[in-house]
Amino acid sequence: MKGGKLIIFSAPSGSGKTTIVRHLLKQPELNLAFSVSATSRPRRAKEKQGEHYYFISISEFKNHIKHDDFLEWEEVYRDNFYGTLKTEIERLWAEGKNVIFDIDVAGGLRIKRKFPDKTLAVFVKPPSVDELKIRLKKRSTESEDKINMRIAKASVELATAPQFDKIIKNYDLDTALEEAHQLVADFVGAKIQK
Ligand code: 5GP
Repeated sequence: MKGGKLIIFSAPSGSGKTTIVRHLLKQPELNLAFSVSATSRPRRAKEKQGEHYYFISISEFKNHIKHDDFLEWEEVYRDNFYGTLKTEIERLWAEGKNVIFDIDVAGGLRIKRKFPDKTLAVFVKPPSVDELKIRLKKRSTESEDKINMRIAKASVELATAPQFDKIIKNYDLDTALEEAHQLVADFVGAKIQK
């Protein structure tokens, strides 16, 4: 596989990584395209097929695993599979793009190990696990049970932070956005347009 750079943003659910990734995608000089993952989790009301995720059934997902179609995949939460299709990255590289990922920590580190020279792996750190709980409740996209599952996973994920190239503390969103923008610009060799 040849092509542009890979930029990974990983973090516990509710840390704000999706907001950061969306902000970076709006910066033309970074030449980024979003890696749309495949998932077996149900679509949320505002999500669009092929834009936020490729929503597929568990059996379709398992079929892709069988055919070795994934660059990486994880059962992130019980019965909810998520994965990066090789064809997605090949498509974006063919368009000459740098690819940005919003994926869980295990998946992020797996991609980093596969492409160590062209990958920037960033961990987004929330202020605290308690704050995560507040953010997830406010977001109200998940049931209480699912929120608790995400919180339980967060503590394990936080311990992986030192394995990433960079840690961004998302204590203040504007500061985190600015820091992320500069970091990615330096990595892809772009000059920030003020
Ligand atoms: P959500 O259900 O909130 O959209 O995502 C749950 C978690 O799965 C998030 O941490 C998200 O970053 C992660 N995720 C999304 N796509 C992928 C993927 O392709 N691979 C892996 N390993 N994790 C993913």
